[in-house]
Amino acid sequence: MKIYSDKRFLSAGLVGGTVSRHSGNMRELPTQDNVYKELGIDPAHILHLHQIHSDKIVSIPSAVQAQAQAAAPVADADAWLLAPLPAGWGAAILTADCVPLFLWDESGTYVALAHCGWRGVVNGLPGKAARALLQESPHARLNAWLGPHIQACCFEVQEDVASQFRAACLVRKNGKIFVDLNAAIKHQLLQAGLAAKDIHAPYYCTCGDRENFFSWRRDHQKNLLLSFIYKP
Ligand SMILES: [Zn+2]
Repeated sequence: MKIYSDKRFLSAGLVGGTVSRHSGNMRELPTQDNVYKELGIDPAHILHLHQIHSDKIVSIPSAVQAQAQAAAPVADADAWLLAPLPAGWGAAILTADCVPLFLWDESGTYVALAHCGWRGVVNGLPGKAARALLQESPHARLNAWLGPHIQACCFEVQEDVASQFRAACLVRKNGKIFVDLNAAIKHQLLQAGLAAKDIHAPYYCTCGDRENFFSWRRDHQKNLLLSFIYKP
């Protein structure tokens, strides 16, 4: 299994990342469960969302709440606020070009995981998730990791979408306009109080790297990549 991850998860006592397409289309729950089982994680202890390209965040403040959420109908939302993230629990999101955004403090206690498509970014979801975490733990030093997503090399848009972003998040080349989601998300995280050095955004392009990723933009198929975070 190939998982794109961040070394800082480990030092915070967390397991997580974005699983490459080699493990299959994660639209199907049994396919996701295979990933968890291979990692020794109980699939029943991973929380799922029904994503709606919103700025809605589901807050899980305890193991009791996690258990209740796992038993309840899947929530319509695009981010998890796991504050604190109970041991033995985790949460997942699915993407296919959108940004899987991971936020966590150094102790791995306060964690957020967000599905940030361009609409979520325009609606301020990254900043909102970071502020929600800092509200729970005002003195935490937050880390951020932006998992594989469509990068500025491939994310061409028309003026209607471009006009919703700050000029600094746009790349204009040969009469075309491209959105740099990294720049847009970093800006929001900095505004929320994160330090630039704590925001890591490796350049993995889902659209450009067919071997490792699914991409809606490239394939127009309903294939999804899994991102998850878990505390053993
Ligand atoms: Zn690309």
